[in-house]
Amino acid sequence: MKEIIAYCGLACHECGAFLATQADDDKKRRAVAEAWSKQFKIDIKPEDINCTGCRSNETLFHHCAVCEIRKCGRQKKVDNCASCSEYACDKLKEFFRVAPDARKRLDKIKTSSKK
Ligand code: SF4
Ligand code: SF4
Repeated sequence: MKEIIAYCGLACHECGAFLATQADDDKKRRAVAEAWSKQFKIDIKPEDINCTGCRSNETLFHHCAVCEIRKCGRQKKVDNCASCSEYACDKLKEFFRVAPDARKRLDKIKTSSKK
């Protein structure tokens, strides 16, 4: 599957919500809702699990739809935060504390863009 990297560095193409939406699979939606409800300690329903990825304008999972990093990246018209002149800003550093893999992905993109 083609890589879809969110502004913040999350890998949308590996995300449970994205995969359940692509497959239009309610069993997968239920499993993701259950896992995320436990993980994030909030009530997420299977019907909330619909997302076509951070870079799309179609359907977004609520949390990502209201994400400040996504909003900022869109305003700045960058491909993702790695191509922003302010990388990595404080907002992003705060997020990286809970998502170290996102930082690795964006650091890699940043490094390869300099070559
Ligand atoms: S934008 Fe959608 S696919 Fe990307 S991380 Fe968020 S929920 Fe997952
Ligand atoms: S200012 Fe920060 S959040 Fe906004 S696009 Fe640049 S790196 Fe991303």
